[in-house]
Amino acid sequence: MPLRHTVDFLLYDWLKVQHLQSRARFADHSRDTFDAVLDTCERIARDKFAPFNRLVDIEEPRVEGDQVILPQATHEAYKAYAASGMLSAAQDYGVGGMQLPYTVEAAANAFFAMASVSIGSGLLTSGNANLLMAHGTDMQKKVFALNEFSGRFAGTMCLSEPQAGSSLSDITTRATPDGAGFESDPLGPRYRLKGHKMWISSGEHELSENIIHLVLAKIPDDNGQLVPGVKGISLFIVPKKLVNTDGQLTGERNDVALAGLNHKCGWRGTTNTLLNFGEGKYPVRGDSGRGLDGAGSGAVGYLVGQPGEGLQCMFHMMNEARIGVGLAATMLGFAGYYASLDYAKHRPQGRVLGAGGKDAQAPQVRIIEHADIKRMLLAQKAYCEGALALGLYCARMVDEQHTGNAEDADASRLLLEVLTPIVKSFPSEWCLEANSLAIQIHGGYGYTRDFPVEQYWRDNRLNMIHEGTHGIQAMDLLGRKVLMENGRGLQLLGQRMLATADQAQIEWPDESHALKQAVQQIHQATQAAWDGAHPAQALANAVPYLQAFGHTVVAWIWLDVVSTPGALDTAVAAGRSAACRYFFRYELPKIQAWLNVVNNRDQTCADLPEDAF
Ligand SMILES: Cc1cc2nc3c(=O)[nH]c(=O)nc-3n(C[C@H](O)[C@H](O)[C@H](O)COP(=O)(O)OP(=O)(O)OC[C@H]3O[C@@H](n4cnc5c(N)ncnc54)[C@H](O)[C@@H]3O)c2cc1C
Repeated sequence: MPLRHTVDFLLYDWLKVQHLQSRARFADHSRDTFDAVLDTCERIARDKFAPFNRLVDIEEPRVEGDQVILPQATHEAYKAYAASGMLSAAQDYGVGGMQLPYTVEAAANAFFAMASVSIGSGLLTSGNANLLMAHGTDMQKKVFALNEFSGRFAGTMCLSEPQAGSSLSDITTRATPDGAGFESDPLGPRYRLKGHKMWISSGEHELSENIIHLVLAKIPDDNGQLVPGVKGISLFIVPKKLVNTDGQLTGERNDVALAGLNHKCGWRGTTNTLLNFGEGKYPVRGDSGRGLDGAGSGAVGYLVGQPGEGLQCMFHMMNEARIGVGLAATMLGFAGYYASLDYAKHRPQGRVLGAGGKDAQAPQVRIIEHADIKRMLLAQKAYCEGALALGLYCARMVDEQHTGNAEDADASRLLLEVLTPIVKSFPSEWCLEANSLAIQIHGGYGYTRDFPVEQYWRDNRLNMIHEGTHGIQAMDLLGRKVLMENGRGLQLLGQRMLATADQAQIEWPDESHALKQAVQQIHQATQAAWDGAHPAQALANAVPYLQAFGHTVVAWIWLDVVSTPGALDTAVAAGRSAACRYFFRYELPKIQAWLNVVNNRDQTCADLPEDAF
């Protein structure tokens, strides 16, 4: 079934996003306006992104002189995306936005992720600008955010450093006040930054007039020491080229230098950079260029929010960023699913099992007729459609949090706290597995660059690493999210799952029962993991816990989806029902093994001394 049908079914029949029209913020919207956005994005993705996905993989970004060169197709795609208005889709009409529900925005962006995740659709730019709209001054919004929404400027997120990835409290980029009047700069308190930022996506390119880096750095105390821990981290706007209060370029290049490009396994259409801030390569505004410490040298940056609140500002955008990563992983899974489905329908190989199968004179069958191929196709469908439904459900919670009544908004906030590690990690792991199955269906051909599936796998492999690695998501879930507010989030999620199980009891009795059992197992394992345990013991098996939790959540989502009354034609309904059954029969039983080690607080891995490896 085409992706659009699945998206429409989930949005309108299952999540009923058209009902959001009753909220004041979305009063001008209707299914027609939502459809128009989806149509536009589908068209741009089909015309400007999909045909160039392989090209941008082969023609990696390269440095020429001071510039990073990207294929012309990337420039065209960037322009078309900016012109669509999607960079500011969720923003107020007053600043040129569409006041689009986040659920529809997320669904529309999914088309780009499937067409070419590697070209990228500007999620970093809109995330950067959305953050400034939430935490910046009016001037910062006008000068930086609005120019990002129009596509004139592009944005980055500069958190990681070579020595500090998962552990951001250990960053060492320094920000010192820029002279006596530093606090009175109309663009915000002005600092000079020095340090190295690693892995910065879209850190250098010629797609836009300017690049607005959002940089985490530490302001030294009176003794010149960096404050340890996350409390010392502040957030700064560091433009590549300096601008005045009208947002016009002043002609001064800021001291942000490209130290090199990273050559990646996948996602090669997007530049990934090591950036040096304030090393003196581009001396700016009185900097002698000798890189001396103190006022007058370093990259010029403007403080966002209060000193010490940098990470909080960044994490304000975390839910949406992680839903975005989860949906990107999901769409790569879909891309492989559709490619392998098509291949399986056309590749003749082997004969049916049984009496007639030994007759070498008989024509070969297409591989889609083999049970094992059907298994691999159904697994992909179950992972990807389940993950898409979960992503859109979480997006719907974001809308509820922002526009629902106080009680619903709070419930959505809590649910999102618990579901965010899952919406990011489940697709990252299992839609990657889907890509592996897509390669398997292609046999040897899947392992070559003549077919697209190996690229999908390479592109998808990133998702378990960035935006918080798998291990970090797992510790966030078991170490924080299921415990916070006395476990209220976990309780609430459990209630929602049981309500679905009750509702499905007549038509799906086995699945309903299995879901109830799984919910109970998760509750028990959460208690067993922590029952008098030291955090190191409890968290030693955080990843198996995350995996069991994720499978339980997606089982719930599947059961909820198939319980939707909807006008479906029979083949589509049969496929959806089969994917649900597959998930309950082949996948959900795995949670027992994952939870065994959690329940027993198994320390086989944790206790092994290094020299035994
Ligand atoms: C292609 C790409 C694009 C990226 N884009 C950006 C970007 O735009 N901006 C940005 O700021 N960053 C970006 N990143 C950086 C990314 O967020 C980091 O790679 C990630 O946070 C992990 O940090 P690290 O690579 O230093 O690995 P490490 O933190 O060194 O982790 C290595 C391994 O150790 C595990 N580990 C670490 N700490 C613990 C612990 N306490 N307990 C258990 N296990 C642990 C991790 O789970 C991981 O498996 C990007 C990375 C890549 C590869």
